Amino acid sequence: MEIHQNFSLKNYNTFGIEAKASQFVEVHSLSDLKILLEEHSQDKKFILGGGSNMLLTQDIDALVIHIDLKGIQILKQDDDYVWVQSSAGENWHEFVLWTINQDFGGLENMSLIPGNVGTTPIQNIGAYGTEIKDTFDSCVAMAIDNQEIRTFHKEECHFDYRESVFKKELKEQYIILSVVFKLSKRNHKINISYGDIAAELSKQNTSNPSLKEVSNAIIAIRNSKLPNPKVLGNSGSFFKNPILKKTDFEKIHQQFPEMKYYEISDTEVKVPAGWLIEKAGFKGKRYGDAGIHENQALVLVNYGNASGQDILNVSKTVQQTVFELFGIRIEAEVNII
Ligand SMILES: Cc1cc2nc3c(=O)[nH]c(=O)nc-3n(C[C@H](O)[C@H](O)[C@H](O)COP(=O)(O)OP(=O)(O)OC[C@H]3O[C@@H](n4cnc5c(N)ncnc54)[C@H](O)[C@@H]3O)c2cc1C
Repeated sequence: MEIHQNFSLKNYNTFGIEAKASQFVEVHSLSDLKILLEEHSQDKKFILGGGSNMLLTQDIDALVIHIDLKGIQILKQDDDYVWVQSSAGENWHEFVLWTINQDFGGLENMSLIPGNVGTTPIQNIGAYGTEIKDTFDSCVAMAIDNQEIRTFHKEECHFDYRESVFKKELKEQYIILSVVFKLSKRNHKINISYGDIAAELSKQNTSNPSLKEVSNAIIAIRNSKLPNPKVLGNSGSFFKNPILKKTDFEKIHQQFPEMKYYEISDTEVKVPAGWLIEKAGFKGKRYGDAGIHENQALVLVNYGNASGQDILNVSKTVQQTVFELFGIRIEAEVNII
């Protein structure tokens, strides 16, 4: 394992922000990871996956450990389901395509989400009406301080909207090594009720779609709506959609009857943050090299040489203005480092 000093992270974060790691190492095996953690027990550590859910606002004065563990295996199966384990360093989208090619169902609606498999439980990634928690069985993780290996079953992960135990009580305590998904082998539950999927499929004259056709439709929609980080630096949705108590929402809604919302329970309502930001007039606005995407107000972008601080300043302006206009606080979904 080669430890690099003063290492540029520009190619390791999808915002394309220039920031340095005081030390950087890539880990390809479990035994190497254990040795590394033992030998560097006194050093501060930072775990890096695909870098697609972080905004680097400063250099990282720590040993940055890039998890590059690879491997996919079928653990067990019955007539209806298969339990597939993927190592943390596998690219998520490639893993999703692998499951689709085996005709295993459950992940197709999350096609083309950037990042690695090991990071998916951390914020319970989701898209187009599906979240990781719907197919997650368990994950194996290593404790950073004593290298103990522990299996977390679904109920222990406390999954919620873009939340899990790994972002809260156990934040920065474990390195996720692999994840097991329980996927369907037949009678797939195709879910095309969300967003534009049905419309995209009918454009392609597809009724009764296969997993592959659903995935292709989602890839087409995402490519048409979201900027490709290889072309324009970004981290996907910068903010979470705020969840309000119904009683609070009703007061705001009287003032802004055109406000979009989704009832998520008898007592709670989710408001699309993108709608709030667009209404506040930010869509397409640019401040130097930092800005808000022209088609997607929820996505902050780096037009070239923005610093993490530039993007952070824009995000604060957006939050402040949305609060002043609507009385609604929007929180960052992206990890601010
Ligand atoms: C264009 C674009 C579109 C996106 N669309 C979506 C979407 O539709 N839905 C969605 O949910 N997200 C979306 N995202 C966000 C992002 O892709 C996901 O959050 C993804 O799971 C992040 O994975 P990563 O490996 O890149 O994580 P990183 O950015 O590398 O890390 C994120 C956090 O997890 C920690 N971490 C990383 N690996 C490990 C590990 N093995 N063990 C423990 N901690 C670890 C890091 O320290 C950091 O705090 C999008 C991002 C982009 C750029």
